[in-house]
Amino acid sequence: MKNSSLDQSVRQTVAYYESIIAKMPGHVYWLDEHAFALGGNENVLNMFGFKSVDEFKGLSFEKMGEICNWSLETVNSFKKDSLEVLHTGQAKLNIEEPPITNCQGKLIFFLTSRVPILDINNKVIGVIGISIDITEQKKLEENLKLAKIKTEIADKAKTEFIMNMSHDLRTPLTGIISLASLQVTNGTSVQERQYGQWIYSAAEQLLELLNSVLEVTAAEYHIELIAKDTLHLQQFAEELQALMQPVVVAKGLEFQLKLDSRLPSVITDQIKLKRIILNLLSNAVKFTKQGKIGLEITALMIKKDEAKIEIRITDTGIGITKDKLDKIFDRFYRVHPSYQAEYSGYGIGLFLVKKAVKLLGGKIKVTSETDKGSCFSLEFIFPVVHNVIAKVNSEIAHSESVQLGKVNGAVLVAEDNTLVLFAVKNILTNLGFDVTTVTEGKAALHALQNKSFVWALLDIGLPDLDGTEIVRCYRQWEQKNNKYYLPIFSLTAHIEKDIIDKCKEVGFDYVLKKPFTEKDIQMIKKILEEKNVFF
Ligand code: ADP
Repeated sequence: MKNSSLDQSVRQTVAYYESIIAKMPGHVYWLDEHAFALGGNENVLNMFGFKSVDEFKGLSFEKMGEICNWSLETVNSFKKDSLEVLHTGQAKLNIEEPPITNCQGKLIFFLTSRVPILDINNKVIGVIGISIDITEQKKLEENLKLAKIKTEIADKAKTEFIMNMSHDLRTPLTGIISLASLQVTNGTSVQERQYGQWIYSAAEQLLELLNSVLEVTAAEYHIELIAKDTLHLQQFAEELQALMQPVVVAKGLEFQLKLDSRLPSVITDQIKLKRIILNLLSNAVKFTKQGKIGLEITALMIKKDEAKIEIRITDTGIGITKDKLDKIFDRFYRVHPSYQAEYSGYGIGLFLVKKAVKLLGGKIKVTSETDKGSCFSLEFIFPVVHNVIAKVNSEIAHSESVQLGKVNGAVLVAEDNTLVLFAVKNILTNLGFDVTTVTEGKAALHALQNKSFVWALLDIGLPDLDGTEIVRCYRQWEQKNNKYYLPIFSLTAHIEKDIIDKCKEVGFDYVLKKPFTEKDIQMIKKILEEKNVFF
């Protein structure tokens, strides 16, 4: 009597716990010390289509795999993980299992934890597995991945479109700039020269915008090229002042240039630094109605190999309120949006400035007071160049190379855009070169092989034969026929690194960026001197 009531109590307790386990969420199962099934909750039984736990008891993983049509790989993976827990006595938690099918063929993803079952002597006698169905999360994840891929494709298409469009606009624009610069120097009346100057400034501004768009796009692609130019800071600053002078005068402002007398020649990316300062100076002019704009360059420290340079751009304009000072460097942020129509702009200038300053290893700070003015200060540590008399001034370049009446040598220019071709030919003819022009690739190759030139300038995108192909063929022919080395320069609106690399690889001596101006002659001359070719 006593025993039977004890049995009943045990049976009740077992039934109680079995009913708890049966209803437990997730898939719960337990195996013996050889990884054979001992029991499982309702979810596990449903998965195999069993009515009672007895049907599940004693099954091996191979048998379970047969029932639900699992691959051998899946069976082995389940078995391996369970045996590992049995052998090591260590739990394996939150393992993402390979997806499996249930007996109806539905694909399920599980996140599984397995823990050892221990007897009273701490001996491992089995393993408990709890698997959580994560199929829905997986689907979401997959959808997110797909959406991300789609967005990336769309983003790439957008970027390519912007890059192509900017490039296609640049080519005719560079022609306009070259022609306008010709009109500035060769115009027969003051008015003609003035018109030339205005066309030149407007086109330069447009080119600047296109370059900025290209730069933003390139920055998104993480394309970052840094040139190493030798820069004479004093001449550089004077050049910037000359560039800004027309707009400063037009607005009735004063330009104040303060230069430290000890400014050294330094190495940096001239174009980037110029763009940084011009952007800040243009803003200074734009946001100032009266008073002055200042450019101040100071050598804070000069050591043997490097110098710490501070560049300050100041204005007496509208200023920026304190709460906006951080935001002005954000992409497309403007304190006065265009619908207020007072100040034009795109809100990308300072974003690019900040990026470029960082790229050149510098720092930028801004202080400002409403209605008093702003001060943007830059700090860079530049490597110093000794014994260099930089001749970046285009007037020097001009007076050196223009020797009227003297023929500087025969050059070939290949360019399919007639406007650009006309402008380049004019510049070179004015500088005393005997210029042969062609508009197609095959004609360029023919001319190179049949006439003699001191150097050649080839556009990359010629219609019939790409500039890089011409040079590849020409270099082979030149070597085979033991010809003197001919320096060849490429002229391109493409500023992407892979294109510049390709040009160098096929045998171009230097890549010149459109628009071609008299200043490019400086670079050509330098390279010719390196190759012992003089004109
Ligand atoms: P934007 O093309 O609009 O000038 P920027 O990125 O160069 O774009 O500048 C962002 C905003 O910062 C400007 O729209 C203007 O509100 C503010 N800002 C920039 N420079 C100055 C300045 N010197 N004085 C006052 N506000 C300025």
